[in-house]
Amino acid sequence: MKVAITYHEDFGKHGFSVLKERIRPSFEALMESGLVDGKDVQVFKAKPAPLALVEQAHTATHMANMEADPHRDVAILSAGSVMMAAEMVAKGEAESAFAYTGTAGHHASRGSAWGFCYFNDVAITIQRLREMGIERFLIIDVDPHFGDGTRDFFGKDPNVYHVNLHSGRGEEHDGQNNNYDFGLGFGATNDQFLDALKHALAQASDFDYQMAFVVFGHDSHQDDYGGFDLTIEAYPRMAQLIKDSVGEKGLVFVLSGGSSVPVAERVIPDVIRVLAGRWPS
Ligand SMILES: [Zn+2]
Repeated sequence: MKVAITYHEDFGKHGFSVLKERIRPSFEALMESGLVDGKDVQVFKAKPAPLALVEQAHTATHMANMEADPHRDVAILSAGSVMMAAEMVAKGEAESAFAYTGTAGHHASRGSAWGFCYFNDVAITIQRLREMGIERFLIIDVDPHFGDGTRDFFGKDPNVYHVNLHSGRGEEHDGQNNNYDFGLGFGATNDQFLDALKHALAQASDFDYQMAFVVFGHDSHQDDYGGFDLTIEAYPRMAQLIKDSVGEKGLVFVLSGGSSVPVAERVIPDVIRVLAGRWPS
């Protein structure tokens, strides 16, 4: 299989208010696109992440704070979606994967969370992958909000290279800790964004990783809320650049920020089309 897609209808029903309206329409657009053929591109129903792994990633205090939160269950299901997607790639069942989520993850630190995030889906998944013997990861966060929670987990981890293309200012490269942050400011255009991505991928190219995650927020679209000025053309180009750079290694796209229904209906199938090797259609 070329692309495994993990999805659950609860993401659109019980996901965070800002994020959830795009879920069902974008999934329906994907199903109508003809991409999902049951062979090269398949959809799998997400299952909740094992609670023990969530508890291992987060502090007891954070777990207690989340206990009564109305988004707790959908956040655990979101982490499970990412985990299922990554496991299929790790086992060689899929070349790449796209994980739908109902809450985001990159603002979730070990002991706290904010910004539509509750548990760090990628960090929880990496724990699971390490149990499977996979150690080294590249995380490319293209959501315009800085992935502070992910940095809390992996900022000092020599086996994770963490890239952020964000709407702050300034370029910071911490080569010792494998962190690279590129602040594009507000109003970044397609070319500015894609040039920064190329630069970031070049920076990370010497890092010998086994699997790559893309924290994919389409809140970077000019009609969405993240502060960049991207248009729909940017997203398949972004996916192609990443796919070409990652090559034969595993690649998992993780849905992050974004609320615009028309944007999601377009860019999610476009990204999956690239992953399936069917771009341009
Ligand atoms: Zn965002």
